[in-house]
Amino acid sequence: MEKLIPIIELLKQGKVAVDTTDVKVYEKSNTKHDNVQMLMVKLESNKYILAVGSGPLYDELTGEEVIKKGKVCSLTHENRLVLNRYFDYTVPRAFGTKVATIGLGDRLGLASPGHIETVRDRNVSPVLAQQSIRELSLTNRTMNDILDAAAFAVFQEGYEDGYGADGDHIKEESDIRHALSLGMSMITLDCSEQIDKTAEEASSETVQIEYNKLPEDIKIRYEDHYLNKTFQVNGLSLTFDNISLMRNVLLYHTAIKYMTHVYNKYISKENRPIDFEISIDETETITSPLSHFFVANELSQKNVKLVSLAPKFCGEFQKGIDYIGDLEQFEKELSEHALIAEHFGYKLSIHSGSDKFKVFPIIAKYTKGVFHVKTAGTNWLEAIRVIAKTNPSFYRKMHEFALEHFEETLKYYHVTPDLDGVQPLENVADTDLPDYMNDDAARQLFHVTYGLILTHKDDSGDYVFKDDFFKMLSKHETEYTDELVRHIGRHADMLGL
Ligand SMILES: [Zn+2]
Repeated sequence: MEKLIPIIELLKQGKVAVDTTDVKVYEKSNTKHDNVQMLMVKLESNKYILAVGSGPLYDELTGEEVIKKGKVCSLTHENRLVLNRYFDYTVPRAFGTKVATIGLGDRLGLASPGHIETVRDRNVSPVLAQQSIRELSLTNRTMNDILDAAAFAVFQEGYEDGYGADGDHIKEESDIRHALSLGMSMITLDCSEQIDKTAEEASSETVQIEYNKLPEDIKIRYEDHYLNKTFQVNGLSLTFDNISLMRNVLLYHTAIKYMTHVYNKYISKENRPIDFEISIDETETITSPLSHFFVANELSQKNVKLVSLAPKFCGEFQKGIDYIGDLEQFEKELSEHALIAEHFGYKLSIHSGSDKFKVFPIIAKYTKGVFHVKTAGTNWLEAIRVIAKTNPSFYRKMHEFALEHFEETLKYYHVTPDLDGVQPLENVADTDLPDYMNDDAARQLFHVTYGLILTHKDDSGDYVFKDDFFKMLSKHETEYTDELVRHIGRHADMLGL
């Protein structure tokens, strides 16, 4: 590190184009590679990589050369690509079916250091970059933004155990192509648009009528394979009678075709491993174990290799709060889903998995500790908690704004908070504001309004919250890391990781 001291001194004296004497050094980033000594530092809210040395790595890094053979490099997309070329552990990687993984969506690009701290030395691999197209558009971020943030975080923390990047809930082929071209290591294919929701509710008569409209060869194939047949699956016995077969065909026939098409055209063509996940969870239809088997068996017949599958479980997996529903029924169905997943050799994936503490032990038990759990908004709620602790008046403004704009978010999110039950702001002392993040309704209020909060502008076109919000969190990044380690750590504990 000695070689870097002259640059740090220059930064402290303000001789480089930054106006502060306050330099934070990320010791774990200190690394020497191919004759180049590197270190990440922060000045004000901005992070930089300092580099001293010579050779191709040094030359490829873009930055301001402030001493002979010493540069200050911004955390640009180009510099992230340089890190990817020289440090393998900064490149997202697939994890396959044998290890537990946890999706740790980071809507702000600030949470990954805390997430890394949480999973380090635990029996789980992190998918640090994970944002759905919906989240990207609501926060005005791109896939490259989330990949950049994750790669710089692993560099900052010197985390060499590998991380994944999930193109989450992708529906369109163009987005799949894009995600793969950028180096995403996981693709979650959202088939909700191919699932015929009317078939679930339809009466037996309607199911029969609709089924009979299908081409003869398709019907014959399904009937030959499934009708009145009983499948023994890992100790489970599953039988398709006439109506259940017809209903499953109507529900999933088109979706299975799409999954197969995407796998054959994109996933299997990549010359690197991809964690391919199928999501059938974003519908009203609860996935019965029989339906799960039907989809899995069809995919297996078509040689589509999954790493994980997300059924829609019984009960409610609402965002940011604990499980709502019948635990006994959940346990029974989860155990059957787990047997089916094990039989076909992939992991069960649990979406909206944050804060489901009641069911984590059940998930851990029946999946034998090998599963994928996705979390996202809960990490943003911990950021809100930090703001509530450190900047009460700013918190109050966000809270008021969120209440005013809550209704607008219901077109994106299914939540049912009892907002009348939320303590009015004027009754709550500053020191008690963080407790809002222990209240289900207030959690959901913030959980869904993030996009509006982070993109809201005043009449002159300036962000009302965003810039200050990021500055505050940067200032309190240690507190943010601590909250994430505590909160996500509790997830990992309950999941037996
Ligand atoms: Zn989902």
